[in-house]
Amino acid sequence: MKKTYLFYDEYDVVSKRWFDKMNNIEKKKSELCMSCLECCKWMIFTVPYSVNTLKAFYANQYYLARGCRVVDVGHSRYVQVLVPSICPQLNEDFGCMIYENRPEACRLYDGRKDPFLKNICKWSELEEG
Ligand code: SF4
Ligand code: SF4
Repeated sequence: MKKTYLFYDEYDVVSKRWFDKMNNIEKKKSELCMSCLECCKWMIFTVPYSVNTLKAFYANQYYLARGCRVVDVGHSRYVQVLVPSICPQLNEDFGCMIYENRPEACRLYDGRKDPFLKNICKWSELEEG
Protein backbone atom coordinates (compact mmCIF):
# COMPACT_ATOMS: atom_id res chain seq x y z
CA MET A 1 0.00 0.00 0.00
CA LYS A 2 2.80 2.33 0.92
CA LYS A 3 4.42 1.70 -2.44
CA THR A 4 1.21 2.82 -4.21
CA TYR A 5 1.29 6.14 -2.35
CA LEU A 6 4.93 6.54 -3.28
CA PHE A 7 4.04 5.97 -6.92
CA TYR A 8 1.40 8.71 -6.81
CA ASP A 9 3.81 11.05 -5.02
CA GLU A 10 6.36 10.52 -7.75
CA TYR A 11 3.69 10.93 -10.40
CA ASP A 12 2.63 14.24 -8.81
CA VAL A 13 6.20 15.51 -8.82
CA VAL A 14 6.73 14.55 -12.46
CA SER A 15 3.40 16.01 -13.60
CA LYS A 16 4.01 19.21 -11.61
CA ARG A 17 7.42 19.55 -13.26
CA TRP A 18 5.81 19.04 -16.65
CA PHE A 19 3.07 21.63 -15.97
CA ASP A 20 5.66 24.10 -14.65
CA LYS A 21 7.73 23.60 -17.76
CA MET A 22 4.68 24.13 -20.03
CA ASN A 23 3.66 27.23 -18.08
CA ASN A 24 7.16 28.64 -18.39
CA ILE A 25 7.17 28.01 -22.13
CA GLU A 26 3.75 29.68 -22.52
CA LYS A 27 4.94 32.63 -20.44
CA LYS A 28 8.11 32.96 -22.53
CA LYS A 29 6.09 32.69 -25.76
CA SER A 30 3.78 35.45 -24.57
CA GLU A 31 6.77 37.70 -23.71
CA LEU A 32 8.34 37.09 -27.11
CA CYS A 33 5.04 37.88 -28.84
CA MET A 34 4.82 41.18 -26.97
CA SER A 35 8.14 42.22 -28.49
CA CYS A 36 7.02 41.14 -31.97
CA LEU A 37 3.23 41.28 -32.62
CA GLU A 38 3.94 40.74 -36.31
CA CYS A 39 1.37 38.01 -36.99
CA CYS A 40 -1.39 40.29 -35.65
CA LYS A 41 -0.65 42.73 -38.48
CA TRP A 42 -1.38 40.54 -41.50
CA MET A 43 -4.32 38.64 -42.92
CA ILE A 44 -2.94 35.48 -44.48
CA PHE A 45 -4.86 33.56 -47.14
CA THR A 46 -3.86 30.34 -48.82
CA VAL A 47 -5.04 30.38 -52.43
CA PRO A 48 -4.69 27.99 -55.38
CA TYR A 49 -1.63 28.69 -57.48
CA SER A 50 -2.13 29.72 -61.09
CA VAL A 51 0.10 31.73 -63.42
CA ASN A 52 -2.85 33.85 -64.55
CA THR A 53 -3.84 34.68 -61.00
CA LEU A 54 -0.28 35.73 -60.20
CA LYS A 55 -0.06 37.85 -63.35
CA ALA A 56 -3.34 39.56 -62.44
CA PHE A 57 -2.07 40.12 -58.89
CA TYR A 58 1.19 41.75 -59.96
CA ALA A 59 -0.61 43.86 -62.58
CA ASN A 60 -2.94 45.27 -59.94
CA GLN A 61 -1.44 48.56 -58.73
CA TYR A 62 -3.94 48.75 -55.88
CA TYR A 63 -2.78 45.44 -54.33
CA LEU A 64 0.86 46.47 -54.71
CA ALA A 65 0.28 49.95 -53.29
CA ARG A 66 -1.53 48.42 -50.31
CA GLY A 67 1.51 46.26 -49.55
CA CYS A 68 -0.12 42.94 -50.41
CA ARG A 69 2.32 40.15 -51.12
CA VAL A 70 2.34 36.70 -52.61
CA VAL A 71 4.55 34.19 -50.84
CA ASP A 72 5.83 31.01 -52.40
CA VAL A 73 5.15 28.32 -49.81
CA GLY A 74 7.10 25.69 -51.73
CA HIS A 75 3.94 23.96 -52.93
CA SER A 76 3.04 23.63 -56.61
CA ARG A 77 -0.68 24.10 -56.02
CA TYR A 78 -0.91 26.85 -53.42
CA VAL A 79 0.57 30.21 -52.54
CA GLN A 80 -0.04 32.54 -49.62
CA VAL A 81 -1.50 35.97 -50.18
CA LEU A 82 -0.73 38.44 -47.41
CA VAL A 83 -2.76 41.54 -46.83
CA PRO A 84 -1.48 44.14 -44.36
CA SER A 85 -4.19 44.43 -41.75
CA ILE A 86 -3.63 45.42 -38.14
CA CYS A 87 -6.05 43.49 -35.96
CA PRO A 88 -8.49 45.84 -34.20
CA GLN A 89 -7.85 43.87 -30.96
CA LEU A 90 -4.17 44.78 -31.03
CA ASN A 91 -2.78 47.46 -28.78
CA GLU A 92 0.88 48.22 -29.53
CA ASP A 93 1.63 48.82 -25.84
CA PHE A 94 -0.38 46.01 -24.25
CA GLY A 95 -0.63 43.42 -27.01
CA CYS A 96 -3.85 41.53 -27.63
CA MET A 97 -6.73 43.14 -25.76
CA ILE A 98 -8.68 39.86 -25.77
CA TYR A 99 -5.67 37.64 -25.10
CA GLU A 100 -7.46 35.29 -22.64
CA ASN A 101 -10.35 34.88 -25.09
CA ARG A 102 -8.47 35.15 -28.37
CA PRO A 103 -9.72 33.01 -31.27
CA GLU A 104 -8.58 29.43 -31.63
CA ALA A 105 -6.68 30.33 -34.81
CA CYS A 106 -4.58 32.79 -32.79
CA ARG A 107 -3.97 30.21 -30.04
CA LEU A 108 -2.81 27.57 -32.50
CA TYR A 109 -0.77 29.85 -34.74
CA ASP A 110 2.96 29.16 -34.76
CA GLY A 111 4.95 31.73 -36.75
CA ARG A 112 7.92 29.36 -36.93
CA LYS A 113 5.89 27.19 -39.31
CA ASP A 114 4.66 30.06 -41.44
CA PRO A 115 6.62 30.49 -44.71
CA PHE A 116 6.26 34.28 -44.54
CA LEU A 117 6.99 34.86 -40.85
CA LYS A 118 9.29 31.97 -39.99
CA ASN A 119 12.37 34.20 -40.14
CA ILE A 120 10.69 36.90 -38.09
CA CYS A 121 8.86 34.87 -35.43
CA LYS A 122 10.70 35.23 -32.15
CA TRP A 123 9.59 31.82 -30.94
CA SER A 124 12.63 30.48 -32.80
CA GLU A 125 14.59 31.74 -29.76
CA LEU A 126 12.84 29.16 -27.56
CA GLU A 127 14.88 26.17 -26.48
CA GLU A 128 12.04 23.77 -27.30
CA GLY A 129 12.71 24.76 -30.95
S1 SF4 B 1 5.25 36.01 -35.27
FE1 SF4 B 1 5.70 34.59 -33.58
S2 SF4 B 1 6.65 35.83 -31.96
FE2 SF4 B 1 5.68 37.22 -33.43
S3 SF4 B 1 3.68 37.61 -32.53
FE3 SF4 B 1 3.43 35.93 -33.98
S4 SF4 B 1 3.70 34.00 -32.81
FE4 SF4 B 1 4.45 35.74 -31.57
S1 SF4 C 1 -7.21 38.58 -31.75
FE1 SF4 C 1 -5.39 39.08 -30.56
S2 SF4 C 1 -3.93 37.40 -30.98
FE2 SF4 C 1 -5.53 37.36 -32.56
S3 SF4 C 1 -4.72 38.57 -34.29
FE3 SF4 C 1 -5.94 39.95 -32.99
S4 SF4 C 1 -4.48 40.88 -31.57
FE4 SF4 C 1 -3.50 39.08 -32.44
